[in-house]
Amino acid sequence: MAEAYDPGNIFAKILRGEIPSHRVYEDDAIVAFMDVMPQGTGHTLVVPKAPSRNMLDADPATLGPLFAVVQKIAVAVKKALDADGVTIMQFNEPASGQTVYHLHVHVVPRFEGVPLKPHSGQMEKPEVLAENAGKIRAALGG
Ligand code: AMP
Repeated sequence: MAEAYDPGNIFAKILRGEIPSHRVYEDDAIVAFMDVMPQGTGHTLVVPKAPSRNMLDADPATLGPLFAVVQKIAVAVKKALDADGVTIMQFNEPASGQTVYHLHVHVVPRFEGVPLKPHSGQMEKPEVLAENAGKIRAALGG
């Protein structure tokens, strides 16, 4: 049986506004903000507001709108950071590398010849996250 959703997870706290994030997008169902330990410049997380641990227990009705926003963010980060490509990743349960148990999708701008940094590696400086968030918001037209 799937493990229960824990409303004390860090993304639930971000969604409730209890801890800060560098937001780039929000609508009724979805929020996107900068990953604090980016695997590449402009690494953004797209997070549905509906609670689920991951893809395995998510309401299928969440997934269409979620991936529509993933596409929107992928286009925006590529434009904002003048990237050559975009890697999209999503992890389910510890064996896969998941560390935060609220469904989210990673959108990582990619540059020719630049490898991904380690998952959950080094913290980025807040000013760098703020600058990249500003560029992405501008590319989204907001
Ligand atoms: P996952 O391993 O797929 O669960 O990814 C969780 C991601 O959340 C990692 O890439 C972390 O760097 C990132 N992360 C952890 N805490 C925060 C936070 N407070 N704000 C933004 N991103 C975070």
